[in-house]
Amino acid sequence: AGTAAGLAVADLHAWYGESHVLHGMAFTVPKGEVVTLLGRNGAGKTTTLRAIMGVIGKRKGSVRFEGQETIRMPSRLIARAGIGYCPEERGIFASLSVEENLMLPPVVRPGGLSRETIFELFPNLKERLSSGGTKMSGGEQQMLAIARILRSGASLLLLDEPTEGLAPVIVQQIGRTIARLKASGYTVILVEQNFRFAATLADRHYVVEQGRVVDSFLNAELDANMDKLHAYLGV
Ligand code: ATP
Repeated sequence: AGTAAGLAVADLHAWYGESHVLHGMAFTVPKGEVVTLLGRNGAGKTTTLRAIMGVIGKRKGSVRFEGQETIRMPSRLIARAGIGYCPEERGIFASLSVEENLMLPPVVRPGGLSRETIFELFPNLKERLSSGGTKMSGGEQQMLAIARILRSGASLLLLDEPTEGLAPVIVQQIGRTIARLKASGYTVILVEQNFRFAATLADRHYVVEQGRVVDSFLNAELDANMDKLHAYLGV
């Protein structure tokens, strides 16, 4: 597939201080696909997203996004290139209203979604505009976190466990949103423990162990890989 226009990660290393955490991550994300990073706790999935976004102290290797090498760029330029990161903790500012949270990141790039489009995607955010960030449910906070990066103009979305701790009905709602984003051309890297959820959305999966990709397969090949996957994930 057209990886030249998507994301290509090669020999990616990253460190927290002296601690060497990524040991040559390599994978590609064709434009318009949803891919997952699967693996046990501590495998390096979050660190991979942080390294792509440039929010980790030391990183080395190659991250090419739409043909452009981003490994030495500061994170604000990576955002401007069109990559948006939703951290696991969501980053909603408790003291700010929903509206203020939504407007907080600067629009760094043309093509960001308008308020109208965002409210069409997330109708419940519109009803909550003046409430405070912490008065929201976990699901609303997650939607706000995704809405923010859509507004900023990202076309590659890095989503870290968007369904964590959410009720099944909200998980479904987020799944529908991600499916709509994919249908309108967004590219997504999804870190997900909820494997059944991931399988309903993803085009391909990468298995991460000890800071490396150790296996990959297409979602269409999932059934044939299920035993292997259970062994990797220890489930
Ligand atoms: P999880 O689902 O638990 O977040 P993960 O696959 O996302 O798992 P990472 O969070 O990327 O894993 O962690 C990879 C390794 O880096 C782990 O050994 C973890 O202990 C270590 N690590 C993570 N954050 C830090 C940090 N801020 N400082 C030092 N070490 C860290």
